[in-house]
Amino acid sequence: MTIEEKVSRTIAELGVTDPQAVEALFAEVRAAMESERQVLVSRGAASSTEREKAAKVLRDRWLARKNGLLAHIDEKWLKPASKELKPLVGRKFNELRQTSALLEIEALIRAIPVRAKVSASDAGSMDVSIAATGQALSTPTGTESVDGDLTLPGYRQRLGSIHPITRVQREIEDIFLGLGYSIETGPEVETAYYNFDALNIPATHPARDDMDSLYVDAETVLRTHTSPVQIRALRKHGAPLFILAPGKAYRRDNPDATHSPMFHQVEGLAVDTDITFADLKGTLDFFCRKFFGEKVRTSFHPSYFPFTEPSGEVSISCFVCDGAGSDALGRSCRTCKASGWIEVMGCGMIHPEVLVHGGVDPERYSGWAFGLGIDRFAMVKYDIHDIQLFFQSDMRFLEQF
Ligand SMILES: [Zn+2]
Repeated sequence: MTIEEKVSRTIAELGVTDPQAVEALFAEVRAAMESERQVLVSRGAASSTEREKAAKVLRDRWLARKNGLLAHIDEKWLKPASKELKPLVGRKFNELRQTSALLEIEALIRAIPVRAKVSASDAGSMDVSIAATGQALSTPTGTESVDGDLTLPGYRQRLGSIHPITRVQREIEDIFLGLGYSIETGPEVETAYYNFDALNIPATHPARDDMDSLYVDAETVLRTHTSPVQIRALRKHGAPLFILAPGKAYRRDNPDATHSPMFHQVEGLAVDTDITFADLKGTLDFFCRKFFGEKVRTSFHPSYFPFTEPSGEVSISCFVCDGAGSDALGRSCRTCKASGWIEVMGCGMIHPEVLVHGGVDPERYSGWAFGLGIDRFAMVKYDIHDIQLFFQSDMRFLEQF
């Protein structure tokens, strides 16, 4: 019995009374549909006009609203199906309808290649696929012409780009790799010991409050900074050590234009004998000029961090207004909020207590460290005013990088 004959009878008339038989019947229809399509695709068409014709014939045979095979299946199999079999027949019919999207004319045209036939008397007597070779612009015998303009450009693939955070992170890494630093990473789910105690942040410190930090349990926290990598790296490698530790950190902040519960940091650490504050200033000055431009000047101010002593903050002269705070017309600069300076990172000489936790003798070794926000660097560098843009996956934003 042909498919046409089958779809002109009800499933009861076909002797289909149980679920297995329903499954088998639909499998047969589906196989027929796929093989008819495959025949057309592998045969190809001699011209795009012929291709359109063939596509329409196959499409109408299956999908024509009035007399198509699917319309018959709906009418003869689904509608009169018994109460027991109806849900299954309905589901199978729906699956079949979904598969049949491949028979829509546009889909078929995309799948069927146009081939220029080389006449049989010609050497090789092969079909030359234009799509594959792009060379059969004129047929050797001159008896058949090729439809379509082969000089038109092809379909353009949308290209992704590197996320601004990744881009900035790599730039920072490159500068320090050039100075002989190596990259270290650590876990994002961290013990309270590595995240706090080992960094000289005692239990009474407000940063340890669960209002500020995201705890997994009493002793486990999503790291609030990349600083625990300092301790892990010192314990793993010992001194001397020159490392950069980029990664994600987490704090209990509500998302707004300048806060995100997940953000990115880079931690830098240099430990050796005779490391002084002059090394810190020299390195960070070099880094800021490399990253923001040679004209940039740096300024260091005293600050406080539990894990460094003394501690400082680094500001750079504004690379947009060159430190003037306004442009030539006297309009105030929004990058530096008219101050002429932009605060970019924290730094300091590593607290001896931290070296002890890292297993390094503070009598023999000293070191300096810095920490900066990659998100903030990217915002400053690209003049972005909302940190949320980094994490919203909006193509219009991301395509700009
Ligand atoms: Zn400025």
